[in-house]
Amino acid sequence: MKNYSCIYCKDTGYIDVPDNEAAYDREYDRLDNMGQFTGEECHERALKHSGSHKEPCPYCNKK
Ligand SMILES: [Zn+2]
Repeated sequence: MKNYSCIYCKDTGYIDVPDNEAAYDREYDRLDNMGQFTGEECHERALKHSGSHKEPCPYCNKK
């Protein structure tokens, strides 16, 4: 497992933000309840489901 100094953006300086947060949350919970995906897999699949865009990471000060 890789160690990032910022786990939120994985040191890219940008994070994926759902276009539709309600759809993201619903899909994330649905996948999570299936019990066969890791949190990260749920996150990525839910992002694809809701659509996503990049925003500067609020957790680190990368430029
Ligand atoms: Zn960051």
